[in-house]
Formats: sequence, C-alpha cells, structure tokens
Amino acid sequence: MTSPLLSLNSQQWESLCDGCGRCCLVKLQDEDTDELYYTNLACEFLDHNTCRCTEYPDRHNKKPECVVLSKQNLDVLEWLPTTCAYRRFDRGEAPLQNLAEISVRNRVVCEKGIHPDLHEDHIIDWIDYN
Ligand code: SF4
Ligand code: SF4
Repeated sequence: MTSPLLSLNSQQWESLCDGCGRCCLVKLQDEDTDELYYTNLACEFLDHNTCRCTEYPDRHNKKPECVVLSKQNLDVLEWLPTTCAYRRFDRGEAPLQNLAEISVRNRVVCEKGIHPDLHEDHIIDWIDYN
C-alpha cells in the first residue's frame, strides 16, 4: 500500500513534525533479539528547551548515526515512537494534540558524559515503538 506520506510536499513534510524530541533519544538494540529499547539519553544536539535539533540542516554529518526519515527511507517508521506524527499520518491518523504529554522536555538528560557502559541504566518504558 502506498504511504500517504509520499503525497506531502517538502513544506508539509517538515511541518508535520511536532517537535516531541522522542526520536532523538539514544536507542539500544538487543543483539540476539533485535529488540529496541529507548533510553532517556538525548542526543547531544537536541535543544532541551525547544526539543528541536540544533544542527538540523547538517544533522547527518554532525551525527552520522542520526537516521534521517525521508520518502526514500520510510523503513525508519518502524522504530519511531507510535506517537510520532509521521507514523500516525502513515496510518491515516491525526497527529496527537497534547504535545506536553509526549514531549521529552524535562524528562531526559544529555548523552554526553554518560559512559556507554551505563546506557542500559537509562532504559525507559514510556516510549513504545511497536
Ligand atoms: S518522534 Fe516524530 S514527531 Fe516527534 S520529533 Fe521525532 S519525527 Fe518529529
Ligand atoms: S542530530 Fe539532531 S535530529 Fe539527529 S538525533 Fe541528534 S538532535 Fe535528533
């Protein structure tokens, strides 16, 4: 089935993002099961106040592991939060209205300075992706 996302022009595409910041959290993947776990560790480039990327135009260069969702890369939708406006639009659902409820604002810490061995301690259960 064709995704309705494909019919959006670039302005509509960009304005769909509600700036919840959820996709900018560090995710861990179980090597055996492929299961994904969201953490409360925010990418170093996430502005904790606006929950927007401070390096948005150049984000892929600044952060190579930042996977950019695009019309050519819709597989990314699979691991975005179920609350994500793009996932909802793809399913024909309206965006969620209460941004305060889904925003990561005041709920996360910066990944910088947290040793990778400690990332598991930051796994959270308040973000679903499946
Ligand atoms: S999870 Fe979706 S709606 Fe939220 S910031 Fe990321 S792309 Fe935007
Ligand atoms: S580089 Fe920007 S868009 Fe990518 S994860 Fe970090 S804050 Fe989010």
